[in-house]
Amino acid sequence: MEVKRISTGSEPINSFLNGGLETGIITNVFGESGSGKTNFCVQTAAHLAEKGEKVVYIDTEKGFSPERFKQIASKEALEKIVLNEPLDFGQQEEAINSLEEIAEEHDPGIVIVDSMVSLYRLKAKGNQVQEVNQKLSQQLSQLSKIARKNNIPVLVTNQVYSSFDEDSIELVGSDVPRYWSKCLLKLSNSDKSVREIEIEKHRSMPEGKSAQFKITDEGLESVKNRGLF
Ligand code: ATP
Ligand code: MG
Repeated sequence: MEVKRISTGSEPINSFLNGGLETGIITNVFGESGSGKTNFCVQTAAHLAEKGEKVVYIDTEKGFSPERFKQIASKEALEKIVLNEPLDFGQQEEAINSLEEIAEEHDPGIVIVDSMVSLYRLKAKGNQVQEVNQKLSQQLSQLSKIARKNNIPVLVTNQVYSSFDEDSIELVGSDVPRYWSKCLLKLSNSDKSVREIEIEKHRSMPEGKSAQFKITDEGLESVKNRGLF
């Protein structure tokens, strides 16, 4: 199937990604707390909903704020959001396993999972790690299938932890989300207002390519356009 790029509604993000999020694959946005992962999701959801597309949104940490959504899109657009809020990793698995049915019913333009690993993290302790990793892998495999079958983007977010090397961060779930995500994007804060997005893995763009953006009431906006202030 032809790969299309779906607009996120954010000028700097779209131009960085040559048009937007690719259909048929999982795009994984990772970064430290406060780096803008949820804003990235809400921005994209708001834009697609505003265009009349349904958005399946799995929110595992009460990150989806209707108030924030309405800063970017209209009240009517909010009705296009099919929200699911699993409370534990088992419910997350159920939510992901029911996606084929949900996709048939709603024909969504995107599936978003924010975050893929916050509930996983609560479980992945001690000798359960292998079993929980298998479940995480199964869920990502299912998401990948949904992306391909419906030719839509799947957008997931991923928490990180500092690795031994102080300067670098590693994905929670490490190799599992890394393997399943054909596009890996790292967000970071350069300073309080300027944020950075960087390619960590991509099928057609070089690793290390980066751009800046800022978070405003309107969403993820360009740093340059606003003059000195
Ligand atoms: P976590 O891992 O904790 O979920 P995150 O990566 O999802 O973090 P976000 O919630 O997307 O991070 O980003 C939070 C940041 O966005 C905060 O610094 C907050 O000040 C900023 N922010 C949220 N709304 C606005 C707004 N309307 N204008 C400017 N900045 C905003
Ligand atoms: Mg968040």
